[in-house]
Amino acid sequence: MTIDSRLLDTLVCPICKVPLKTSRGGEAEAALPEGVEAELVCPADRLAFPIKDGIARMLVDEARSLA
Ligand SMILES: [Zn+2]
Repeated sequence: MTIDSRLLDTLVCPICKVPLKTSRGGEAEAALPEGVEAELVCPADRLAFPIKDGIARMLVDEARSLA
């Protein structure tokens, strides 16, 4: 499934409202949880919001804390 990068450009962190960076794995690919296609990362809060089934889940409860 492809993800609309234009849509992702409009997403901001629900906590601090800064634009999020898309992570599709790369060196962190092995760390992506099962079922997560990509993550939207907030460097300030060190949270990664999952994208599942092409839908960004912008809930703090679903975010993954980054080390
Ligand atoms: Zn944030």
